[in-house]
Amino acid sequence: MNRSALAARVAEMVAHCGGRQFALMLVRIQRLQEFRLVHGYEASDAVGPAADARIRDLLRPQDELVQVSENEFIALLPDLLNAGHAMLAGTRVVRAFEAPLMFEGHAVMTPVAVGISLHPEHGDDAKSLLRRAEIALRDAKRMSERCAVYTSGTERMMVPYEWLHDALQTNRLEAHFEPILDLRRNAVCGYESLARWNDGDNGPIRPDVFIRLAEDTGLIGELTRWSLNATFRQAAAIRGRNEAMRFSVNVSPRVFGQRDLVQQITGALAVWDMPPAAVTLEVTESALMEEPLASIAMLHTLRDAGLGVAIDDFGAGYSSLAYLKQLPATELKIDRSFVADMRHDIRSARVVRAIIDLGHQLDLQVVAEGVEDAETLEVLRALGCDRAQGYHIGRSTPASHLLQRIATPD
Ligand code: C2E
Ligand code: CA
Ligand code: CA
Repeated sequence: MNRSALAARVAEMVAHCGGRQFALMLVRIQRLQEFRLVHGYEASDAVGPAADARIRDLLRPQDELVQVSENEFIALLPDLLNAGHAMLAGTRVVRAFEAPLMFEGHAVMTPVAVGISLHPEHGDDAKSLLRRAEIALRDAKRMSERCAVYTSGTERMMVPYEWLHDALQTNRLEAHFEPILDLRRNAVCGYESLARWNDGDNGPIRPDVFIRLAEDTGLIGELTRWSLNATFRQAAAIRGRNEAMRFSVNVSPRVFGQRDLVQQITGALAVWDMPPAAVTLEVTESALMEEPLASIAMLHTLRDAGLGVAIDDFGAGYSSLAYLKQLPATELKIDRSFVADMRHDIRSARVVRAIIDLGHQLDLQVVAEGVEDAETLEVLRALGCDRAQGYHIGRSTPASHLLQRIATPD
């Protein structure tokens, strides 16, 4: 079935479902590009049929499945009771791909992300249902479940491109700094820079919302430039009081393709007279794993320039250990979902312990984020975690306010 046949099939289902809900589930295989580089075209051609069989296995007899492109499948799921059931079906697909596919005796990971839209709630034709499943899929890629049902309204605030463009032009974003605690010395050893955008009438806009907007519209280059300069400017002032302070900046891997990125970073360091060794760039694990080979090359260049590199949100994505070993990182940041659950959930606590040990085996500093209480902090310390951050240690504050509070080193 191609896309036009799919449109006709959806129209038929709309006509005959009698108002009962059905779902359109978009399944996208990640990392096919990387797979092809490593295993060749023939092996990547074999992924389609293998994935088709794996998804089909999970569906009910009345469900329909079509492959719409090299790495995309669409399933039509009639007679669903509610969004929860659709989510369940999607999560099952994600789980099924957590086990490797086998090719010529090799076990290969091909993780998927799943986006779901529902008729009648999200549309009456294939075009609108597909568009919303696509939006849900983009959300899914940022979530540990890797599966999402489309949500509308305030949960997904659509910010016009022009607002962000103007805010960047007129320098209305602000760098806030969140303190990072050195667990051995029990002292703040640096800060993570987090972008804040409080747009007067429109109130504060969440970073994940405007960062995604920037990524989707090409403004991410501008935002990165702003973020580096705003951070280094404040950082340089703070280092004037305490030279030992280190600073972490989040970077989107969408800018990795930019040929002048390294020059841009080293240029900004020079302008603010910041030593590269005082700066760590944070990149999320899931983003790194989308293009692992290109990411490894880029991270090497950044390391060669003397910067630290942190793998952010570690544990939430799908790193293969083979790649993790190759990533020239200096830090591992444990995803805050594990840290938050540590106190109540023994399995999360074990995962945290395993990540700390793994990081140390790979000669990485391990940082726990999202520490919200004293008990969690003490357990992390006992487990040998190197650094921690979170509301219990301190909320992020405007970098400009911090300067007045920084003590000179003891
Ligand atoms: P992240 O890098 O994982 O940043 C940590 C997020 O956790 C921040 O959310 C922070 O405010 C929040 N947080 C800190 N401590 C706690 C805690 O104890 N409990 C809980 N529940 N949350 C805590 P924020 O500021 O909303 O940032 C969201 C994401 O946006 C960041 O995730 C980062 O990926 C991205 N981001 C923020 N600023 C920038 C930037 O300047 N450039 C880029 N590329 N991305 C940025
Ligand atoms: Ca971060
Ligand atoms: Ca993080």
